Amino acid sequence: MLGNQILQLLKQEIPQIEYERYIKQLRYDEEASRSDIAVFHAPNPIIAKWVGTRYAQKLSHLFELKTGVKPSIVVEVKNRRKKATAPKQGEFMEVPAAKSSSKSTILNPSYTFESFVVGSSNQFAYTAALRVAEKPGEQYNPLFIYGGAGLGKTHLLHAIGNFNLTRGKQVIFTSLEQFMNQFTHHLRNHTMDRFRDKFRNCDILLLDDIQFLSRKEETQKELFHTFNELHGAGKQIVMTSDQHPKKIAGLEERLRSRFEWGLIVDIQPPELETKIAIIKKKCELNGIQLDNDIVNYIAANMGNNIREIEGIIIQLNAFANMMNQNITLEFAQNVVKNQLKERTENITIDDIVKVVSKELNVKPSEIKSKSRSKNIVAARRIVIYLARSLTPNSMPSLAQYFGMRDHTAVSHAMKKINEIIDKDETFKAKIEELSHKITSSGSE
Ligand code: ADP
Ligand code: MG
Repeated sequence: MLGNQILQLLKQEIPQIEYERYIKQLRYDEEASRSDIAVFHAPNPIIAKWVGTRYAQKLSHLFELKTGVKPSIVVEVKNRRKKATAPKQGEFMEVPAAKSSSKSTILNPSYTFESFVVGSSNQFAYTAALRVAEKPGEQYNPLFIYGGAGLGKTHLLHAIGNFNLTRGKQVIFTSLEQFMNQFTHHLRNHTMDRFRDKFRNCDILLLDDIQFLSRKEETQKELFHTFNELHGAGKQIVMTSDQHPKKIAGLEERLRSRFEWGLIVDIQPPELETKIAIIKKKCELNGIQLDNDIVNYIAANMGNNIREIEGIIIQLNAFANMMNQNITLEFAQNVVKNQLKERTENITIDDIVKVVSKELNVKPSEIKSKSRSKNIVAARRIVIYLARSLTPNSMPSLAQYFGMRDHTAVSHAMKKINEIIDKDETFKAKIEELSHKITSSGSE
């Protein structure tokens, strides 16, 4: 059955524990599904919500890869399906734009300006997004929002879209990946007219995760023309990325310069207070009660990725419901610790190489090479040091990874880094920052 095949595909892409806990519990409803709507049943509202917020887009995308049609994903609690009701919080449904026939407008109705908590880390991005929503095409065009994973970029994009749906604007929300897949699909089927018709006839184009444009020359070319057409007609374009346009490698100069025409704003990791306010807001929206000491504990220990923080809240609530218990601080501490442990268990040396090479501006291949140039040796030592503390690799297995003769070179690298850490506070902070980046990057 198609739905089951899709769940199997998803299984390969997500951590096993999440598959076991959530996805495995889903049942595909073949009867209720159509090519443009896929219905799954979940055993309880928590699993439905979890799948809705976390996996609906991915599921929809997998369907599209398989069938060429991108369905809306509806996750319902078994036996409680009512036809054509508004989606509950956390459920995903295709939201038809007023007077619109656009099929790619998949907006999450719970990502609004009202549900976005503003703090100094995201104030600028929030204000710019709100301005653009109020006066699309008039002031900041394009608006470019960048920042790390789970900091609210996609949320703001949806908020702009939701704000305008009720004002009769044609809104298209698409991830760069979807844009690219549709482009390839239409190119292959000689239906580029339809593709252009769709993307060049909207009032607001919301493009998520534009960093994936990197080195995709054909897609860049198409986007360049789309951009010109929309911008020339005074239509609004909003983009997000994990980095500033200047830092996206393999991006054509003419596109980069256009991305910089309007306003570029960043979102910083939230300060503790903002994190606490976000947790409280999420609890309120999901009808979850957490004591202040638990909220504070989560905020202080969970890192900056709000998506992960939300995951913890939902898990806590799920366990408490299943076991019919109140959530105690001790219980919350265990769940948080387990989550952090799971995260480090999934880290590989390659992940570390990736982060370190990006931060220190050397190529991954150089780190893995035998090069003796100073900055490369330094980067390699840092990778070794971090791999020892963040992965279960032994010294001999690290030596093998780097093609070293034996583990003495590895222990030498460890010694060198420990020496610097002991006398150089700045270096120590840098290592901590890298370590944090690595442990919090696994969620994307
Ligand atoms: P990004 O696109 O930057 O990776 P998302 O926009 O997907 O991050 O946000 C991840 C989750 O965190 C979403 O559920 C979003 O609602 C939530 N979130 C992030 N920032 C905020 C905020 N300031 N207020 C409320 N929720 C937030
Ligand atoms: Mg995002």
